[in-house]
This record gives sequence, structure tokens and C-alpha cells, in this order.
Amino acid sequence: MYGMVLAARGAPLALQQRPDPAPGPGEVRIKVGACGVCRTDLHVVDGDLADIPYPIIPGHEVVGRIDALGEGVVGLQPGMRVGVPWLGYTCGECFYCRANKENLCDRPKFTGYTRDGGFASHLVADARYCFPLGEHGDDAAIAPLLCAGLIGWRSLVMAGEGQNLGIYGFGAAGHIVAQVARAQGRSIYAFTRNGDRDAQQLALSLGAAWAGASEDKPPTELDAAIIYAPIGALVPLALRAVRKGGRVVCAGIHMSDIPAFPYNILWGERQILSVANLTRQDGIDFLAAAAKAEIRTHTTVFPLTEANQALASLRDGKLVGAAVLRP
Ligand SMILES: [Zn+2]
Ligand SMILES: [Zn+2]
Repeated sequence: MYGMVLAARGAPLALQQRPDPAPGPGEVRIKVGACGVCRTDLHVVDGDLADIPYPIIPGHEVVGRIDALGEGVVGLQPGMRVGVPWLGYTCGECFYCRANKENLCDRPKFTGYTRDGGFASHLVADARYCFPLGEHGDDAAIAPLLCAGLIGWRSLVMAGEGQNLGIYGFGAAGHIVAQVARAQGRSIYAFTRNGDRDAQQLALSLGAAWAGASEDKPPTELDAAIIYAPIGALVPLALRAVRKGGRVVCAGIHMSDIPAFPYNILWGERQILSVANLTRQDGIDFLAAAAKAEIRTHTTVFPLTEANQALASLRDGKLVGAAVLRP
């Protein structure tokens, strides 16, 4: 196998050959067809997340085919197409696992962060955390659904049932969630960094009612807003845009500090929430909703060996939609 390996904090990823990994009990080996590039991969590369076990292969939006089964795997067969998401393992025993909140597990493993991920020709995954994907659609088009779509879905559910939904940061997650929300009959208000006409155009082409800059006042009060950009200064802006009783959902794993703001923009029973990880049920629910909404992802495909360039384009805000790597 070969993979793009992160050896130390901030280092560029380096191509490395390794012996083919053998799946352990309950695991499968997957030949990667495509792997999406998520903002969290940037946080892994930059060392923004705690306790990264270097060397590590990033990537947690994996689409591939099973090519070897470990002992005791049930329900999966060689040749099946599966998706491997961020949540790679949970303990099943802690307070959160027992309370049906495995996304908050105390002893989790995460694909491409605490176990090797999909910026590679092959990876090994816990069979219980793989989603069978069926044969409809291209690997590269599906890959962004595995995190941008899934975390986007969880944040949409947490935003509540409101009609008027703001989306701050209209990239990989935003453009998927907008399509699901439109299929649910909701109105989308897209906020982008100032001057990002491409993202605003994409939002409008996907049926957004309005697109503007993050500092702009939307034409109507929002019932909820979801923040996908990792910028704390968006929280007070979003609070000012939501109505009384409205919610502001922070969907990223990492965000710059939230500046001080006057209490009166929170008052009126507005709420600020964060989204952490996903549950396997989120995956099942989202993949069903995604099929129904006939989501079309906008992707830019890079060869796996150009993973560093893909990460740089994401960092510079130069992508429209999602970046995807192909081995
Ligand atoms: Zn647990
Ligand atoms: Zn992600």
C-alpha cells in the first residue's frame, strides 16, 4: 500500500510505501476509490487537535471497496462498496455510549486522526463503523457526503425545524446541507467571506433565497444559523441575524476565539450549540435523506499525490464545493 503520511505537526504530507495492512478481528481492509478533503484534515495537519499519534495518514471521507475481511466480520463481503466516516470506533461502555450518544464517547477512535485514514491506496477500518453505499453514483461524488454531508446533517437536525436557515461558510458542508434543506422546503440564506462571488453564485444556483457577505443583514430574520467556517467572530454576527428563540449551531471541530459580545444579542432565549462528531444512526438517516434529495456534490478532484496542493487550496478558500483525492 501507499499513503500520504503526516510525520509531525505542520509538516507537508509525504508519500510512503508500506506493507499491505492485515485486518484484525472485526476489521476490514478497503481499497480506496476516493477520499474527500475536509477542513478537519487541515486542523490535523496544523496540530490544532490534541494528542495526534504521529505518524498518521489523514482522511475521513473514504469511499472504497472491501478487499479483505478480518475474523468475525458479519454483513460485509469482499467487493462491497462502503464509506468510512470520521467516527471509527467507540467503546460501547462509557456514560455517553450507554446513553445512546456515541458521538461523545470518552474513548473513541477517529479515522484520519487517531487511526490511519483514507489519503492512501488502502486502509483498515472497524467493520461496525463502515456504511454500505450501494452502487449508485461515482466514488468521488459520494466522498464529501461522508463528513461534510454527515456533520452537515447533524448540524441541520440541531438547528431545529425553522423555515429560514442561515449558512455561514458555503463550502463542502454548506452546499450539501443547502440541498437537503431545500428538499425539505426550507429557505436558505448563504453568508460567505466578503467578495466570494463563486460561493455566492453556487448558493444561488442551488436555490438559496439570498446570498451575501457574513457582515450583511439578511432580508428576513433567521430561525437558525449554522456556522461551518472556523471563525469565532461569526458567532455574534449570527446571533444578531437570528430571531428570538433562534439557534446558532457551531459545526466545526475547531474555531478561533469568539469575541466578547453584548448579552442582549443572546437574550430572548437564543441559543448557541456545538456539534461534535456523528453517530452511526446519523449516517443511516443522512444517507437515506441524501438519496431522496438527489444531492449533487460540486467537487475538484486531485490525484492522491497532490494532497498538499488540495489542502492548500482549501486553506486559501480557492475551492468551489469540495476537494477529493483519488489514489
Ligand atoms: Zn464510549
Ligand atoms: Zn470532516
